Amino acid sequence: MTTILQVEGLRKEYRKASNWLSRLFKQSGASLYAVDDVTFSLRAGETLGLVGESGCGKSTLSRTLMRLYEPTAGTIIFLGENITAHGQKDLRKMRKNMQMVFQDPYSSLNPRMTVREMLAETIRFHQICQTEKELNEYIEYLLVRVGLHARDADKYPKAFSGGQRQRICIARAIAVKPKLLIADEPVSALDVSVQAHILNLLEDLKNEFNLSLIFISHDLSVVKYISDRVAVMYLGKIVEMGTTEEIFQKPVHPYTQALLSAVPRIDQGVREKIGIEGDPPSPYEQHTGCPFFSRCPKRMPHCERETPPFYQSGETHQIRCHLSV
Ligand code: SF4
Repeated sequence: MTTILQVEGLRKEYRKASNWLSRLFKQSGASLYAVDDVTFSLRAGETLGLVGESGCGKSTLSRTLMRLYEPTAGTIIFLGENITAHGQKDLRKMRKNMQMVFQDPYSSLNPRMTVREMLAETIRFHQICQTEKELNEYIEYLLVRVGLHARDADKYPKAFSGGQRQRICIARAIAVKPKLLIADEPVSALDVSVQAHILNLLEDLKNEFNLSLIFISHDLSVVKYISDRVAVMYLGKIVEMGTTEEIFQKPVHPYTQALLSAVPRIDQGVREKIGIEGDPPSPYEQHTGCPFFSRCPKRMPHCERETPPFYQSGETHQIRCHLSV
């Protein structure tokens, strides 16, 4: 299977503004890596689930991949091109092939434009249709394809429910026939009853349009349902990555084990609940050793000093933990 996205050592650093005291002593403000040394690849037609607690860097990673945020270091190879240093003109071309659906369908749509106007704007920008007739037919086709009606094209966003608005956002994303769709918590703002319909829609569109999908969620059941592979993030780093089966059946990293212990399993009852002590440490603090040390139920003395590298374990499974040696 062709690799469509290759990410190597990606970092996104933020600097905290320095205060008068640090300026007096000529100290620079603290910095944090919201995304820290992230490496992974994505194959054509594959769905990669990205999970972790809120604030772990999932959304920053997705926006850095889209080049909505500037990466501090690392490379992003998309469809064989290094897009890390692309200028605005090349980025516009690149974004035709890499689209994003955001968590909040309410703020993603312009309340003053009809659905037809919003979709037409995107389709015209990327020159998908030749004539106005073709454009209007294509918009109506897209709306029907995502489970709405052709007559919905001339309504404003306020006429739709949350689930319907997310369908409109999905229609706008697939309108330009992208190769990669990044869905950032696309169902977490929706009622549980609507979530399954949106997940099924994404799955159908993925197969029909031969899309690759990066699916971001803090909800592990949702990620398990839709993903071929899963990457688990903690404090900006991927700590474990493998097939969905590897991650859910044989998690190795103590953080993954703790996350999964909270997910009810219908087949085998609830797993032994491990729980995670406390909150993640401040990302502005300088860490030595393993970033999960302060909360890890399996920590060993050397974990505090030695940072575990990203080990390859088997063909697809990678873990960042001294236990995997
Ligand atoms: Fe826990 Fe040590 Fe593994 Fe970190 S390296 S997750 S502290 S066992």
